[in-house]
Amino acid sequence: KLDSHSAGRHFLHIPGPSPVPARVLRAISYQTIDHRGPEFGQLGLAILENIKKIFKTKSPVIIYPSSGTGAWEGALVNTLSPGDLVLMYETGQFATLWKKLADRLGLKTEFIGKPGAEGWRYGVDAAKIEERLKADTAHEIKAVCVVHNETSTGVTSNIKAVRQAMDAAKHPALLLVDTISGLGSADYCHDDWGVDVTISGSQKGLMLPPGIGFNALSTKAIEASKTAKLPKAFWAWDEILESNKTGYWPTTPSTNLMYGLHEAMEMILAEGLDHVFARHQRLAKACRAAVEAWGLEIQCQDPAVYSPVLTGVVTPDGVDADQLRKLILERYNLSLGTGLGKVKGRMFRIGHLGDCNELSLLAALSGCEMGMKAFGIKLKGSGVVAAQEVLQD
Ligand code: PLP
Repeated sequence: KLDSHSAGRHFLHIPGPSPVPARVLRAISYQTIDHRGPEFGQLGLAILENIKKIFKTKSPVIIYPSSGTGAWEGALVNTLSPGDLVLMYETGQFATLWKKLADRLGLKTEFIGKPGAEGWRYGVDAAKIEERLKADTAHEIKAVCVVHNETSTGVTSNIKAVRQAMDAAKHPALLLVDTISGLGSADYCHDDWGVDVTISGSQKGLMLPPGIGFNALSTKAIEASKTAKLPKAFWAWDEILESNKTGYWPTTPSTNLMYGLHEAMEMILAEGLDHVFARHQRLAKACRAAVEAWGLEIQCQDPAVYSPVLTGVVTPDGVDADQLRKLILERYNLSLGTGLGKVKGRMFRIGHLGDCNELSLLAALSGCEMGMKAFGIKLKGSGVVAAQEVLQD
């Protein structure tokens, strides 16, 4: 099917991977060069400098040739030792997968949050973290792990509040945050929010294909890495930090994706991070207006933590969201995100991250609206018109 032609473009509106702009694709297509040669060292130094601006940090950022999961593993194995207790917060499927990974690495995990599927409709409750940390007078908890933008539900948790809760509890645990789907679309401040390791990936707000993972570090995280005992070799920060001083990596980097990363960051920084974040807030607001006009429910139940990256749409009782997605893909060449884990079949997700503008969102909303009508869903009104009204303001 991959070589079959259908007229017009494919509308990729899953919450990552997101569409890759032509300018980035062109950069990726440049000839591969010697990753130990002088040209690559210059490129490496430029990338390592610019990526700090994206994470809003003055500390080093590790770049792995990996998907986001590899970067999750990198964060844990560099900072923790076998049997360490980590406090994790259940916001959805990705928080759940990160916990499974931590379990497999031999860490002790404690999963807190609102119970059941209902918990997948809210963000992290910092007060719960504060309460648990205050009870841990022996400081057995070595790290607090939270997902900033929960991609499975469309909820963006307040990381600053988590830091404040940890400070209020006067607890020394490290703060590890996954913003794999938030970075580059939702505002994120690694240094100001006091995060020790921020984990991210290339295929979402950074508008790149999958294949690059990130760990943004803090001084405290680097210190912890000197005594952490979980086995690590490929993921070890020390050799990478050493090579990075001159713009190189100890192993072969994804040379062509690095060209793309350089180009994508140029585009984001030229638009201006604040402008990029405001654009996604506007698109998200328009998308939510559409869902409300259709008379459907948004998965996220707390307006304070609505995601600017994606919107989760709950389908009416008796409607299998995956059958609906299938119809929409077949008829309109529009890909929407599937419901994952506890909400499988109960919702679909509209991605409005990365290289998205008013008309790409409106096209996606049109596809949803026509598809839902064709599926026999009774809509209250036109979501497309409601979204246009928001975007015209
Ligand atoms: N964490 C979040 C929030 C994600 O959205 C994803 C992927 O969608 C991951 C982790 C896992 O990343 P990957 O699939 O790139 O390994």
